[in-house]
Amino acid sequence: MKYVSTRGTAPVLPFDDVLLTGLARDGGLYLPESWPTITPSRLRAFADMRYAEVAVEVMWPFVEGAIDEGIFVELVEDAYRSFRHPDVVPLVELGGGVWLLELFHGPTLAFKDVALQLVGHLFEHELLKRGERVTIVGATSGDTGSAAIEACRDREPIDICILHPHERVSEVQRRQMTTVLSPNVHNLAVEGTFDDCQDLVKAMFNDLPFRDRFHLSAVNSINWARILAQTVYYVKAAAQLGGPVAFSVPTGNFGNIFAGWAARQMGVPIRRLVIGSNRNDILPRFFESGVMAMHGVTPTSSPSMDIQVSSNFERLLFELCGRNGAVVTHLMTRFRADGTVDMGESRLGMAREIFDAARIDDDAVLRVIAATYERTGRIVDPHTAVGLGAAGLLHHDPATPIVSLATAHPAKFPDAVEEAIGIRPELPDFLGDLFERPERYEVVANDLAAVEAHVASSSRMEG
Ligand SMILES: *Cc1c(COP(=O)(O)O)cnc(C)c1O
Repeated sequence: MKYVSTRGTAPVLPFDDVLLTGLARDGGLYLPESWPTITPSRLRAFADMRYAEVAVEVMWPFVEGAIDEGIFVELVEDAYRSFRHPDVVPLVELGGGVWLLELFHGPTLAFKDVALQLVGHLFEHELLKRGERVTIVGATSGDTGSAAIEACRDREPIDICILHPHERVSEVQRRQMTTVLSPNVHNLAVEGTFDDCQDLVKAMFNDLPFRDRFHLSAVNSINWARILAQTVYYVKAAAQLGGPVAFSVPTGNFGNIFAGWAARQMGVPIRRLVIGSNRNDILPRFFESGVMAMHGVTPTSSPSMDIQVSSNFERLLFELCGRNGAVVTHLMTRFRADGTVDMGESRLGMAREIFDAARIDDDAVLRVIAATYERTGRIVDPHTAVGLGAAGLLHHDPATPIVSLATAHPAKFPDAVEEAIGIRPELPDFLGDLFERPERYEVVANDLAAVEAHVASSSRMEG
């Protein structure tokens, strides 16, 4: 499989280069040249296969030619062995045609593990093969950092430096990062906000001599391999339910739900994809008007969805534009310059044939957590509640089951859960001693030179 950029002018690349590159050189995102298909009989067979076996089969056409098949099987098996449920992503019936797909049984209790556990293995394999090293840098407001650290810890060709805002992440979130004492893991607590952390990371990438010297790299949500790994659970859940299905997805950067769209392109009978947003509702506003317009970011009880722009939407836009990179470039340039762009009536119409979008504010989140607990005895986290809330509002076809994606374990967001139902969810056993474990992190001034000095001294890169 070869990959093309959504802006149409970057070089066409094989999977391994796309994996390590992230953003395309023309500023676009990579997508496969074509969508392989899954036949109905293969889909039926997936119902009874192990998750890792399904993952290999679904992803193989996308990686073929770049990785040896036997090695790929091993990497996928290793990645999903780190999950603490035998089904990896168990599908649970809630009643009334609603199902919950639990994506939080990985090492950091959030759905990002499903993709990042595999991406860590793929990065390591590819770097060892090439005799190269990278320094992964990233900023986190909480969740992404710990999933990236767990994915990269103890991997010889990788150093990872994660910046978090000092004293502005929850204690669970901080400890999930800072108690990883592996020599290649470096946590920097920046005396500033999350935005300051993001600006520092951007500034490091823009410092080209520094970037080249330390081979800076990222594992952010625009990386194609992350989307690819996420398509698998849509395929597996649809296979288990054995007929047309809908999905509801708590959405931030549009990576997760785009993976659902990709599964549909491969022939999986997905009738509708419901986007759940919190108060940061750029997508519901787009689906009302066809206009994509940036607003500021408002903090909510589902912080992993507090985003201004859904970067992966560009991938859908490319498809809605008939894969015309010049049109995408024009629209995205307007959007970046003006903060707003009208995508046009016909593109909006096409998108609406598959997607719905709803905004669920923090009060509604509390009501959904309480109602879910009363009706089913299950405790869901605020992100999951946004998805369930959107499914309840927008799913009108009782003949089609809807699968709502559970993206975080409730113990990661105990305050909102306690406010809703008066119960403080507990961490699973394997993290039960999190508060006793020793921590390691450095507090750093909000200053590029100071942060670069820390990254330089932690990198094991020679020269
Ligand atoms: C990242 C994240 C999301 C949003 O996923 P996107 O792929 O950015 O749309 C939702 N819930 C949780 C818990 C997350 O960590």
